[in-house]
Amino acid sequence: MDVEYDAVVVGSGPNGLGAAITLAENGCSVLVLEARERVGGGARTAELTLPGFAHDVCSAIHPMGALSLLFRRLPLQEHGLSWIEPPVALAHPFDDGSVALLKRSLDATARGLHPDKNAYLHALRPFVEEADTLFPELLKPLGIPRHPMLLARFGWSAMKSAERLASDWFTGSRGRALLGGCAAHSFLPLDAPFSAAIGLTLLIAGHASGWPLAKGGSQAISDALAQYFSSLGGRIATGHRVATWNDIPKARAVLFDTSPRALVRICRDRLSADIKDSLTSFRPAPGIFKLDWALNGPIPWRAGACARAGTVHLGGTFEDIAAGEASVNRGEHPKRPFVLVAQQSLFDSTRAPPGKHTGWAYCHVPNGSTVDMTAAIEDQMERFAPGFRDVVLARHVTTTADLFRYNENCEGGDISGGANDYRQLLTRPRLSLTPYSISSLGIYLCSSSTPPGAGVHGMCGYYAARAALRQVFGRRVQRP
Ligand SMILES: Cc1cc2nc3c(=O)[nH]c(=O)nc-3n(C[C@H](O)[C@H](O)[C@H](O)COP(=O)(O)OP(=O)(O)OC[C@H]3O[C@@H](n4cnc5c(N)ncnc54)[C@H](O)[C@@H]3O)c2cc1C
Repeated sequence: MDVEYDAVVVGSGPNGLGAAITLAENGCSVLVLEARERVGGGARTAELTLPGFAHDVCSAIHPMGALSLLFRRLPLQEHGLSWIEPPVALAHPFDDGSVALLKRSLDATARGLHPDKNAYLHALRPFVEEADTLFPELLKPLGIPRHPMLLARFGWSAMKSAERLASDWFTGSRGRALLGGCAAHSFLPLDAPFSAAIGLTLLIAGHASGWPLAKGGSQAISDALAQYFSSLGGRIATGHRVATWNDIPKARAVLFDTSPRALVRICRDRLSADIKDSLTSFRPAPGIFKLDWALNGPIPWRAGACARAGTVHLGGTFEDIAAGEASVNRGEHPKRPFVLVAQQSLFDSTRAPPGKHTGWAYCHVPNGSTVDMTAAIEDQMERFAPGFRDVVLARHVTTTADLFRYNENCEGGDISGGANDYRQLLTRPRLSLTPYSISSLGIYLCSSSTPPGAGVHGMCGYYAARAALRQVFGRRVQRP
């Protein structure tokens, strides 16, 4: 076949760029096509509210970025990426003014979780001590594990519902709520099997790497990846939306950093009916409703320790969070939603003019929701930070429809690349030993709809590129 490039990657999110880099490092000529004018997908930063306020449009906090074997190996610092680790990864305030804190130190975290100090240490220590072995196992597709005992121990807890794990481990409300808030990142009802998996992963990550943010904004991650890719001779064309196969120059391999459904739309009759069926039946997660604020000062938290945390979980007790997440999964909008807040400017002075601050927050909503959750989110802010509305200078609203317009991968406002229930968590986008390989014609899926799933870590792209290098180019690539 007459080809213009060895490989074309459609989409420049962290996984698209991770794939492109892996291919280019292995001698391929690679073109990345990006629909928008700037690279980055879910890792971009923009002045969404007022001049001088840099807001993370999507991702803000990057536990998986810091733990990604790919990102750790790449010279991203030489290309401008610098991680900032807030003194506290996560604060979880309660109505009585107290707060549970996830810190780098396991002991310091456990000390704040009375009466579950020993339970927390007992449950988390084995995983935290083995984090450097565990995360490479978690951030990869299903396969024969290199450390089966460790993975089995993790799996025994991870396969439970968050509700069950919280009851097995903790007797007090603080430990339960800390776990519940982290588990809610899965978008699953907290009584669903495997809803503990993401919560447990995030807690361990807090001790292993902190929950860092990128200096200057998440765009710095994407720009560093793109610059490194260009330094390898790779080419990026922005403002180039791929609507049909004819929009893609001839290449031996095409990797799609898109949703499974978009891949089907673009590739159409290049795919078998079976594959089309399985990709189009891949289910989305609930969506999000997001607010970005320009603030006249820091958020006036009732619990002062919240100001030391990059991330704050608002929702109160485990039971309150579970009720909210259950209603979202029933297609309803909770009056008191679980709200995830990031306050990057407290730790990164480049984000706002002197004395001013940025705020980033979202809550979960049913997929495709059209309901305005501004008041519900801000009521939760007021609940834990009385007087919050008085410091708001300007706000930017992102609905599920806005998010989809901004990034076609976010169907119905889904930021997870598909539901994280037990089937799709383990077998994305379908049950297969080679989940990235979609057709023998050299078509691959490399987005977060493949293992290991959502988050800014680039590992889906890395493993998809590895599959293409093996199958199309006959090259074997070692694990990073
Ligand atoms: C609001 C929000 C908050 C988040 N918060 C966090 C967080 O704090 N931490 C974290 O780790 N993760 C977070 N995430 C998730 C994270 O951003 C994603 O998991 C990650 O970006 C997925 O990377 P990806 O490369 O698979 O896809 P994406 O990042 O979605 O990139 C896909 C790219 O492909 C382009 N594209 C799609 N279709 C086409 C086409 N037909 N032609 C050309 N280009 C196309 C899109 O424009 C986009 O640039 C968040 C996501 C959102 C939306």
